[in-house]
Amino acid sequence: HLPTTELQAIDAAHHMHPFTTGKEINENGARIITSAKGVWLKDSEGQEILDGMAGLWCVNIGYGRPEIADVAARQMRELPFYNTFFQTSHVPALMLAKKLAELAPGDLNHVFFANGGSDANDTNIRMVRTYWAEKDQPERDVIISRWNGYHGSTIGGASLGGMKGMHAQGGLPIPGIEFIDEPNWWAEGGDQTPEEFGLARARQLEEKIKEIGPEKVAAFIGEPIQGAGGVIIPPATYWPEIQRICDKYGILLIADEVICGFGRTGNWFGSQTMGIKPDIMTVAKGLSAGYVPIGASIVSDEIAKVIGDTEFNHGYTYSGHPVACAVALENLRILEEENVLEHVRNVAGPHLKKRWEELAEHPLVGEARVEGLMGSIALTPDKATRAPFAADAGTVGYICRERCFANNIVMRHVGDRMVIAPPLVITCEEIDIFVDRARKSLDECLEKIRA
Ligand code: PLP
Repeated sequence: HLPTTELQAIDAAHHMHPFTTGKEINENGARIITSAKGVWLKDSEGQEILDGMAGLWCVNIGYGRPEIADVAARQMRELPFYNTFFQTSHVPALMLAKKLAELAPGDLNHVFFANGGSDANDTNIRMVRTYWAEKDQPERDVIISRWNGYHGSTIGGASLGGMKGMHAQGGLPIPGIEFIDEPNWWAEGGDQTPEEFGLARARQLEEKIKEIGPEKVAAFIGEPIQGAGGVIIPPATYWPEIQRICDKYGILLIADEVICGFGRTGNWFGSQTMGIKPDIMTVAKGLSAGYVPIGASIVSDEIAKVIGDTEFNHGYTYSGHPVACAVALENLRILEEENVLEHVRNVAGPHLKKRWEELAEHPLVGEARVEGLMGSIALTPDKATRAPFAADAGTVGYICRERCFANNIVMRHVGDRMVIAPPLVITCEEIDIFVDRARKSLDECLEKIRA
């Protein structure tokens, strides 16, 4: 291919990157990734980079699996596309729906396909509002979400998300979305124990329901563990209390499993790890290990029945795309046959937890936590007071991310939190390499901010 500088110049001239300023790309040039195998990326200069983010929290079975490429090619030859609208179906879509119904907890037995997580959440907004309208309660249309939650970038997904910077662009949120605070004990817990804080934050849901009027609330949505908000692992008391409140007021519970689903927390779904019984789960990312785009809403018998009694005027051309469904089925086969969830639960997860928590000794690190194979560290200039940095939020995180990238690991920053979510097939040796390089990067970051 062309020399790196030429590729970077073309990229800077024509390619608009999500969540990136043009300045970043113009000044530094993008790092051009050319191939990948296992947990290792290779760039156009031949450097090997350990991917601590599984791409964007998705390449759970690792890169370069030939089985997936074979299945995709076979499906493209046999039936590259057919839609699932009206009265047609095809084998990959119906078999994937069956498989997801088997894996999903409780009576979540019905699958509405989308292209990714954002538009699956758009489906959810329309589905829960249609559900209540069909049950003769059309005024029940408010969805409660959380500040600093992330549910996607479409108008619906970004409205459900509690990212103020996203709301500011494009006139969001849409009407009928309300927010409560996130369960971020380290940053906001003050003198409360994690248990007290978890209960207090969950009880904000009840206060919000009372404020709005229970007869107007359709659903609550949350990620079992917030991912894009900085891997905020809630206190153990949080989710059971949310479940109790949803049950008490008959409010639908939507678990956004886009990151937590398919083994990230050591179970098939984060809902199982957190002990909740959602009425709807949003899935994407790990469903196909990121090899092709696909997402879905997995819904309860009751919701499917009510929605099925009417015509739900909703669907994407690529809902249940045969190639994506075939790839997802193969990915799920690999996860099962290679015992990947057991690897997360018994081998890689405990090893990462041990090594990651050692980072809490670093002078820059206030909190270091892991659940399964997702974790974060909070950077702070003062561990005792958990104070933020004097510089704008995210400045130190950005420096740390840059140092990581220079040391050939990918670790993302969310403000001044650093997050990790490697491919689930990562070995203990690779975790050691990652953590050693992360520590070196933290040292360099500290040096840089002291300079
Ligand atoms: N929901 C959650 C919890 C996510 O983390 C994401 C993406 O990061 C989305 C939804 C949006 O998914 P997509 O980018 O596939 O549209």
